[in-house]
Amino acid sequence: MKAVDLRMVTRRPRCVQGAGPRGDKEEATPLRKGEAAAEGSQSHRPMKRQRKAQRLCVAYEAADGNGEEGKEADPLQAQCWEPQDWRQQLANIRTMRSRRDAPVDQLGAEHCYDPSAPPKVQRYQVLVSLMLSSQTKDQVTAGAMQRLRVWGLTVDSILRTDDSMLGTLIHPVGFWRSKVKFIKQTSAILQQRYGGDIPSSVAELVALPGVGPKMAHLAMATAWGTVSGIAVDTHVHRIANRLRWTKKQTKAPEQTRAALEEWLPRELWGEINTLLVGFGQQICLPLHPRCQNCLNQVLCPAARGL
Ligand code: SF4
Repeated sequence: MKAVDLRMVTRRPRCVQGAGPRGDKEEATPLRKGEAAAEGSQSHRPMKRQRKAQRLCVAYEAADGNGEEGKEADPLQAQCWEPQDWRQQLANIRTMRSRRDAPVDQLGAEHCYDPSAPPKVQRYQVLVSLMLSSQTKDQVTAGAMQRLRVWGLTVDSILRTDDSMLGTLIHPVGFWRSKVKFIKQTSAILQQRYGGDIPSSVAELVALPGVGPKMAHLAMATAWGTVSGIAVDTHVHRIANRLRWTKKQTKAPEQTRAALEEWLPRELWGEINTLLVGFGQQICLPLHPRCQNCLNQVLCPAARGL
């Protein structure tokens, strides 16, 4: 019997064929503020950034051991998992969200900064609004941002504001006392290390006090125009698990982010947060989802059990 060797090969997953990566020219345009991105390329860091390395599927193929490098047997089909019916489920969610009338659509972080401010101030305001938004309804975050903007929402202004006044301005956002501390600490770091701007990488952003991965990915998208990963909050986490968009049930948003990024085509990463957050605010509610009004009712594994 002829000896068979095993060779490890790495290939791009074939499961992304229907909606593959965007190609090498990753767009670097902020959601609304091309100006903000442009300044970043001059004053802080180039806006054109390297795309995240393509994830590679690892497979093993048989070689006949005759030394003919590259001679392959049958083409390999990479074993890439993807959820059943996800394309139709996503299309249905897009249809349900077509009016774009959820709170996140009018009051999300990308709507809370002053578009007439200098670009780096805009980016700072985006970051502050994201810091305020955790555990807080969009309406409450937007109110706090409005008061801060009237007060003066720049790094220097916030550093001159005493904690008591800052607390008064942001109350009643969730965990406002902790957020006062985090915003002051982060503002001091931004002034000392980044010239009053915000850093332009996820690693640097999550190193700031009070900034988590979800905020970092949203800041990268909104402030710098770069899709660095899927921003997973409680809505995205809940809905991804209900629709079985994760291979296994996940317990935390960061697990969900990793599970989604395993299979969801990269060009959809930037869309998924706002799409699912609004869906979670209006239909797929945390406690009593409106399954009767959901186009995914017959496709949703969770609908039957709710
Ligand atoms: S059927 Fe119900 S649980 Fe499933 S996605 Fe729709 S609203 Fe959510």
